[in-house]
Amino acid sequence: MAIIHATNPATGEKIKCYDLFSHDAVEAVLDNSARSRSEWASLSLDGRTVLLRSLANVLRTQKKNLAELITSEMGKLIGEAQSEIDKCAWVCDYYADKGQQFLADTPIESDASYSYIAYQPLGTILAIMPWNFPFWQVFRCAVPALMAGNNILLKHASNVPGCALALEQLFQTAGFPSHIFSSLLISSNQVEAIIADKRIHAVSLTGSEKAGRSVAATAGQYLKKTVLELGGSDAFVALEDADMDETVMAAIQSRFLNSGQSCIAAKRFIVLNSVADEFIERLHMAIEKRQVGDPLNPETTLAPMAREDLRDILHQQVSGSIDQGAVKVTGGKIPCRPGWFYAATLLDHVKPGMPAYDEEVFGPVAVVIRATDEQAALRIANDTRFGLGGSVWTKDAQKGENFARAMDCGCVYVNGMVKSDPRLPFGGIKHSGYGRELSLLGIREFMNAKTIWIK
Ligand code: NAP
Repeated sequence: MAIIHATNPATGEKIKCYDLFSHDAVEAVLDNSARSRSEWASLSLDGRTVLLRSLANVLRTQKKNLAELITSEMGKLIGEAQSEIDKCAWVCDYYADKGQQFLADTPIESDASYSYIAYQPLGTILAIMPWNFPFWQVFRCAVPALMAGNNILLKHASNVPGCALALEQLFQTAGFPSHIFSSLLISSNQVEAIIADKRIHAVSLTGSEKAGRSVAATAGQYLKKTVLELGGSDAFVALEDADMDETVMAAIQSRFLNSGQSCIAAKRFIVLNSVADEFIERLHMAIEKRQVGDPLNPETTLAPMAREDLRDILHQQVSGSIDQGAVKVTGGKIPCRPGWFYAATLLDHVKPGMPAYDEEVFGPVAVVIRATDEQAALRIANDTRFGLGGSVWTKDAQKGENFARAMDCGCVYVNGMVKSDPRLPFGGIKHSGYGRELSLLGIREFMNAKTIWIK
């Protein structure tokens, strides 16, 4: 039987082996999910609301253990893992508070005596999820979908199998009926057959462009709805009148959170020439304070990366950019210690054609691109195949808003770090994917907006 390993990124040591599900085990999960579907869809909204509140409580009660599990499997700082669990509880509370309002019928005037939209669940959603926020990514997809009356089958990333099983257990502990949320321990080459299966009604993928193309192609072949949350290369634009204290503080936070492994991290710092030297000097000073170490130690400020291959790809991107003329201000090396650490890195004078300009840089590497003026900054911000998020920093709020409206991406924050928030829609355009999670828009993605017309 095929197995997968959970490995501790801080030491490189294997923690535990897990058997992948056999064909028969997958069949049983699909069958159970299909059988439990109509009962769940017909449960009252009050009933689902109570369960979401219970889930939030279970998360808060188990926060310590869950955070340690996250850190042991994918390596993030323990404080960040605890915040991740808090955020999961928040999204449960949010849809418990707002779900009923979001799912209410919408009356529409027409030639009928009464016409309206009724929102009905699609069925069983296959959620294919990444390791970087192994609880939050799952919760932000699953909670609105479940509130809407859908079931979830989770195919989690292969490096976080313990998290996948703990997630299923959480829903059971919170009192959800069996088979409403199930985890499948399978490899990605088993996914195609599951998407094709008639017991699956839609697919949500958070992950890379490559996985997005593959999953969307299969889902297209079988005419299943998809939501794709893919990679990003968010611009962080510092204009001449930016408040430097605030801007640099946000730059550090946004780039180095989760060791730089966040889809909405600030990946390209586009800085006007007139303030570039000051920005870089301050950023450099702040970066030098980041110290690699044991992510379970609350004093550590730079965690390992999640996998060795990802660390190696990052190092190639950095080395390739330096070879092509980028200036290394600090970092650019693999520390001599066990585990998959990468030194906090700052690259200046990054230009088109370099990997650090053209590709998503998924790790603790700050990339600075200098711009001659605001128009050039906007052109550079949009000069990417990605379109997830972005931010602009200026004391002139109107200028910031105009800039935000001109950026080609799913969200722009003016004088704020890009973040996901249950109250606000989240998602991208271009190669960052399509569809929205969270807020009103997120709960409507996996629903049949059914028109009812009565003479
Ligand atoms: P990944 O390799 O694409 O994996 C994501 C998930 O997709 C995993 O469960 C993976 O399973 C599965 N998968 C991979 N290839 C597949 C295929 N051909 N068919 C079906 N499933 C497949 O991505 P990752 O390296 O884990 O995550 C990093 C990427 O995700 C980055 O690009 C990041 O920006 C993006 N991301 C985007 C968002 C967003 O909201 N837009 C949020 C977080 C991350 P296995 O592990 O078994 O291969």
